[in-house]
Amino acid sequence: MAYPVADAHCDLLSKIITDQADFSSPHPGQMVSRDGLKTGGVCLQVFALWHDPRLESSPLVQCRSMAAEYRRLLADYPELRRVSAGHEPKAGEVETALVLEGGEALLEKGASLLEFWEAGVLALSLTWNMDNPLAGAAEGRTGNGLTALGKQMVLEAKHLGMAIDVSHLSDKGICDILDMRDVPVFASHSNCRSIFNCRRSLPDETIRRISDRGGVVGVNFFHEHLGTPFPSTKEAAAQLRHLADVGGITCCAIGSDFDGIPYGLSDLQTSGEFQRLVPALKNVGFSEDEIEMVLYKNLRGFLCGLSVNPTG
Ligand SMILES: [Zn+2]
Repeated sequence: MAYPVADAHCDLLSKIITDQADFSSPHPGQMVSRDGLKTGGVCLQVFALWHDPRLESSPLVQCRSMAAEYRRLLADYPELRRVSAGHEPKAGEVETALVLEGGEALLEKGASLLEFWEAGVLALSLTWNMDNPLAGAAEGRTGNGLTALGKQMVLEAKHLGMAIDVSHLSDKGICDILDMRDVPVFASHSNCRSIFNCRRSLPDETIRRISDRGGVVGVNFFHEHLGTPFPSTKEAAAQLRHLADVGGITCCAIGSDFDGIPYGLSDLQTSGEFQRLVPALKNVGFSEDEIEMVLYKNLRGFLCGLSVNPTG
């Protein structure tokens, strides 16, 4: 039996708008595709709106173009639909949502969070790898927390019913957000710092606080966060085991970062191979019910629990 899979983070849309990927006719090396989602048992896929700072076009232009691409995918492929709490997923359907990864687009003239919320963005991450006028990034230079503007943006997101995605944020920034009341918080693609020490991964205390808030942490497959040049499902499963031991089973999820990382796991290189996680999860002691939670139910439950879900 295939386990349903929910993936909290992939960068397919940024590859589509730069002609490096095609949903139904994948390019060599492309990690997420129509057939892959089906073969891998993926029933829920979150797509990032990530702007590439190396491109000439502005963050807002890039994010709008990815949002337009998402709209086209929903129109062209009948199995795709926006995730919504009121809908019982049917066999063969793939629920989807967007996350805005880095708030730079929101700082441009004419941009609004409402526009992205209407486009299907259910969560906002304030930064990518660089500090910006909203907050300090995990891999930024300052280690700063949220600015006044950043806090205002979080309140605006909360008002719309969006979650805050703390992946890529500085430690101080994450604490600032966790100190704000009633903000739904999760980490779409972050690993455990106590297994492999890097700034992008989360300390145990943060994992506990996210879990206490009802949030989830999606373990990513980036080798630099797994601590070995060629990681396999074994390393990913060890991360999930630690997450469960520290934050409890309900906070465990997957956020592959497929199409945003140079290569995947040695034995799980595309979304079509997600089921290969199952034996590795059994090996670290997860029961069948727990595997269902880790691979699917926890993330879907979190997204469906957000107070407002745009439908359509
Ligand atoms: Zn990322």
